[in-house]
Amino acid sequence: MSALAGWGADGGVPLPTRPWPDGAAIAVALSLDLDYETPWEADRTPTLLETSRSDYGARVGMWRLVELFEAVGAGWTAFIPAIALQRHEGDVRRLVDECANVEIASHGLDHVPPTKLTPGDERRRFEEAQVLFASLGYAPVGYRAPSFDPTPTTLSLLEEFGYVYDSSLMGADEPYSLSSEGRAAALVEVPVEWTHDDATYFSMERWGSIRPVGDHDSVRHLWLASYRRAREEGGLFQLTLHPDLVGRRSCIDVLKRLLDQMVSDGGVWFGRHVDVAQHCQRLAEEKREWT
Ligand SMILES: [Zn+2]
Repeated sequence: MSALAGWGADGGVPLPTRPWPDGAAIAVALSLDLDYETPWEADRTPTLLETSRSDYGARVGMWRLVELFEAVGAGWTAFIPAIALQRHEGDVRRLVDECANVEIASHGLDHVPPTKLTPGDERRRFEEAQVLFASLGYAPVGYRAPSFDPTPTTLSLLEEFGYVYDSSLMGADEPYSLSSEGRAAALVEVPVEWTHDDATYFSMERWGSIRPVGDHDSVRHLWLASYRRAREEGGLFQLTLHPDLVGRRSCIDVLKRLLDQMVSDGGVWFGRHVDVAQHCQRLAEEKREWT
């Protein structure tokens, strides 16, 4: 089956993906969204309980996940809001120092979804985040919108500020090029999916209606089935993970067994999101399909 089969006219342009580096059968892109306390701050002051959940992710869950990634030699990507990076600079520096191949990418200024902002407000916040990242010594080229919710303004800003890719949209299984104003843009989408996000299964809000799915075997089987299908199609398998969710003792085995299976199968390229995006850009340039 072609990687581009079923493509729709949704504003994107298909990109070539294969051959993957090292002749791999599949590309696997792992991401940690290091939100810290910012999702709760989007509406109000976090409670002590919420802050403690963020602390758990930083103190325990993140390092448990890092250990798994490093054990399989995976490149991976951390998406961080700029204000969280500023507050937890030491944590992130340690990540960069201790991980063999980690990419630090932008998750916005804070965790307010761009769809809740006016275009002017969004630009002001985007520019503020750029200044903050630069002041801390980071120059992200990848972006994930808070709550997977970018706007057309977001995509224009990413192009304007020279970003290589976005990773917030769900228009295809494989990476694709995003267009703006009717032309193909040099901005790649590394697509996400709700079913590939641990928050879909393991999140919990006591006073709201969000409850964990509970059956971890179901999650593992779903991810395993998706991985196997992506492998058959020679495609991309991407995961969005949160250290305070899948990083818990109760959940980590879901991921560990999946990674063990990948290692046992062999032929897996664990690329950082930027590596995946640039790989597709390179292939497109070689095939002269890039504009
Ligand atoms: Zn987030």
